[in-house]
Amino acid sequence: MKADIFKLVERRDGARVKPSMAKEASRRPPPRRKIPRSFKDLTPAKHFNPRTFFQELILKGWFTPRHGQPRRPVFPKLKHGEVAITWIGHASFLIQFTDLNVLIDPNFANWLFLMKRIKRAGLKMRDLPPVDVVLLTHAHFDHFHKPTLRRLPHPKIGVMPRGVGDLAHDLGFSRVIELEHWESFSQGDGSHWKVTFTPSKHWGARTLHDQHRGYGGFVLEHQGRKIYHAGDSAYFHGFEEIGRKLGPEIALLPIGAYHPETFRKVHMGPDQAVQAFQDLGAKFLVPMHYGTFKLSFEELDEPPRWLREIALEENLTEQIKILDEGVPKVF
Ligand SMILES: [Zn+2]
Ligand SMILES: [Zn+2]
Repeated sequence: MKADIFKLVERRDGARVKPSMAKEASRRPPPRRKIPRSFKDLTPAKHFNPRTFFQELILKGWFTPRHGQPRRPVFPKLKHGEVAITWIGHASFLIQFTDLNVLIDPNFANWLFLMKRIKRAGLKMRDLPPVDVVLLTHAHFDHFHKPTLRRLPHPKIGVMPRGVGDLAHDLGFSRVIELEHWESFSQGDGSHWKVTFTPSKHWGARTLHDQHRGYGGFVLEHQGRKIYHAGDSAYFHGFEEIGRKLGPEIALLPIGAYHPETFRKVHMGPDQAVQAFQDLGAKFLVPMHYGTFKLSFEELDEPPRWLREIALEENLTEQIKILDEGVPKVF
């Protein structure tokens, strides 16, 4: 088993994986998996068996009872310089300051087409505070959910990658801002909030042929705090660059949709998210993109379990904050 894990780390990104990282990963117990052999060669883009895919990711979901309850959120009274982060579920967050409310990749859907939401959103849309800004990392349906965006209270500013704005014109935005990587948008005289669009290793097409759409993450700066939402990403050297250029303090990082192995071309597992967190030089890691929709073949509860194990092994229990959906956490 150990040899397997070692190979896994080595294969991830030949040029950039340090031997020390591979060694560290080999010490970790591999999570238990029940993966059919036939999935070994799956890739997100080509030659997967549609029937197996349908059975494992769609059909099984229909027979899995939806769990989790939305809570009536108790939003904390914040002081200047404090930020409250509420995980709504999947990649969706509410970020609150004394004078600014930001939603990132909001998705309250119970269904994404045929795909059932297995865990309910942590709060109801009607319990949201007024929203000033919505940040959208890319056009994939689990992140850019039109029905949710349409139902959000107006007016709100939408910030999204270049090539995505055409999807937003009828969704009630007062302004739609498209950004290229490393471009920033700031409101007011620069003393107010600022958001910078950052690279990721993923892809942006919403359907088969719209390859022009951008994708990435955001660093939000306000009241001296810097929060980074990575969007969807594989592990890549860009985390180190984002850390160096923007120095985020709180990193919201995806930890799900990493199995089979080929999915790691576009997503990270908890092991890589911890490495990304260290590359970023951030103070806190808040995991996301797990437990809500079955997008891949690891069990839905495996990513946080594995992350907890790594946190214990690496003495990172103070830095890794696993949030409950719908419960604001003040940083
Ligand atoms: Zn995506
Ligand atoms: Zn996603």
